[in-house]
Amino acid sequence: MRIIFIGPPGAGKGTQAKKLVDLLGIPHLSTGDLLRGVKDQDSAVAKWVARHLDAGVLAPDHLVMRIVAQRLESRDCAKGCLFDGFPRTLIQAQLLDEHLQRTNHTIDLVLELDVDRRLLLERLVKRASIEHRVDDNERTIKARLQVYDAQTSPLLEFYNKRGLLKKIDGMQSPDEVFSSIRHEVLACQS
Ligand code: ADP
Repeated sequence: MRIIFIGPPGAGKGTQAKKLVDLLGIPHLSTGDLLRGVKDQDSAVAKWVARHLDAGVLAPDHLVMRIVAQRLESRDCAKGCLFDGFPRTLIQAQLLDEHLQRTNHTIDLVLELDVDRRLLLERLVKRASIEHRVDDNERTIKARLQVYDAQTSPLLEFYNKRGLLKKIDGMQSPDEVFSSIRHEVLACQS
């Protein structure tokens, strides 16, 4: 199965994604993780990526697609994967479509994790004090939420029109959220 997981920063995507890949036995393709991996390298591209990540703005679409395409070539992705944090723009969604068409694959399901904005801010500020992620300070948190509204949320309509989108209530307890996710995945598999 190829599943796309969409949700604003702080919605709990990371936690749920881990549970879902365990359930389905498919790789977790997180572009945040892949880009942080590139950032840690010692290269000109690494510095370029770092500038985007640290400011909380999106890395360039074609660069992200190239990194994703490389990851998709690995054998473990042959049976599917969970896309977490990708696509994040309409252009990335189109690039992904083209790539999947070339490789004769399709997207089976798009999950939207929906969480109230005030709760998101609370969660992100709390995470900032625990994890010390460079991009988890108040200014970049706001920037990332604005980026989500402006650039990522149009994807919901894009996939909804295709009948692929399922909305999950992210305000429930983590176990309840996962049970809603599992329900949608099983419905899609049958
Ligand atoms: P979060 O969803 O909590 O913001 P991620 O780990 O998904 O965290 O992403 C961290 C950062 O990595 C983003 O703010 C952005 O700079 C970059 N990034 C991740 N995925 C993409 C993507 N698909 N396109 C462009 N930039 C991305």
